[in-house]
Parts: sequence; C-alpha cells; structure tokens
Amino acid sequence: MQRVLIVEDEVDIADLIMFNLQRAGYEVLKAHDGITGTETAIRERPDLIVLDLMLPGRDGYSVFREIRRDARTSRIPVIMLTARAQTEDRIQGLEAGADDYLTKPFSPKELVLRVNAILKRTDAPPGAVEYEFGPFRFDKNAVRFYLDNEPVDLTATEFKLLLFLCERSGKQQDRNDLLRTVWGYSDEVHSRTLDTHMKRLRQKLGSHGALIETVRGVGYRVTSPPVT
Ligand code: CA
Repeated sequence: MQRVLIVEDEVDIADLIMFNLQRAGYEVLKAHDGITGTETAIRERPDLIVLDLMLPGRDGYSVFREIRRDARTSRIPVIMLTARAQTEDRIQGLEAGADDYLTKPFSPKELVLRVNAILKRTDAPPGAVEYEFGPFRFDKNAVRFYLDNEPVDLTATEFKLLLFLCERSGKQQDRNDLLRTVWGYSDEVHSRTLDTHMKRLRQKLGSHGALIETVRGVGYRVTSPPVT
C-alpha cells in the first residue's frame, strides 16, 4: 500500500484529505507543523507528501528545501497546497521544484486524482524493466536513473518526463501530451511547471542536458543519444 504524508496544521483540512486518500486506497500519515512534518518525512519516507505552505514552526518552503536536500527524502514527490490563488506563491512553488500544487479551496477529489497521476507507475512490461539510451540507464521498477552508471537524483516526475522523451527520441513531443502523460491534465499554469521541470532536468544531466531540445511552439524533443 502506498503511503502519503499530509503536512497541514488545519486539522479539518488534514482530516478531509486523509479521509479521501484512505478511501482511494492509500495509507495516510499526518503532521500538523513543519518541524514534525520534516521529521516524519525523513523517518517514514512516504511515497508522496502533501505539503501546506502556511505552517507554524517551519513554513512549507523550508520544509520542502529540507526534504529535497536530505538524500533520504530528496526523490519523494511533493504536492504543495497554497492558501490563495497568489501567483507569487505558485511561481515560487514551481520554481522550487514541487511536483504539483493546488490552490485552496480545492476539491479533495481533485487532490486524489493528482496523487494518483504522480504515483502511477511508469508502464514497465515484464522483462523490460531497464531501458538504456546512450549513457542513460532507467531502472523502471525502482524508478532510479543512472548516467554513465552513476546514480542521478531525479524526482519521480523528472524520471517520467525524461523516460517518455527518450523512448520517443527523435520525435518532437507536444507540450499537452507531456502534461497529460506526466501530470494527467494540461492547463496554462502547468505549462510553466513543465518548463521548470525541464530546466532542472537539464541541470541534473550536466553536459548531456543539451540532449533535450526545446521545440519552439510545440514542446520538447530528445535527440539521438551521443556516440561515446
Ligand atoms: Ca496552513
């Protein structure tokens, strides 16, 4: 059973989220402040974290940075909850590298859909759990990525994006297709999320980051792997 940690000080909201996630088949852990949230994340290593930004003790951004910095939790997907439709908040959250975000008030159903989309396993047919592309190696079962046999810390979302592009190398991928495949839906704000993720992905790939090409007005494309 996959486990979701909810870090939210408003008990009513935390309970509502918990109820809906449990009904969808998830095991739920809760923390009501930032410090407990960070500790619980590191101790329990949940499959996903729903993180409110306005928290007593330590705010959501600090919790997020801590989680991403710690090797034990750096790959756990995070959905941020923002208090209002504040553009500033959204952009900060996305730039920070959150996997997704929701603005309050949100429907618990919508949250469950987004959790499902992020935790959906990459399709790995039996016997084909590893995929190699030039210096890249994807372990689909463990959701682990290696570059020249060295593990690279990709988040689950970055892993899915890169795998999707590599498996379709040479062909340009439409932004909306990428959004729907990875996030389960597409809209304007999430279009920004896509760009932020691509930027981080390129940084993590170092000199191989240039393999991911931006196709102006369309989306992205991964070219053929370099001959090494
Ligand atoms: Ca709050």
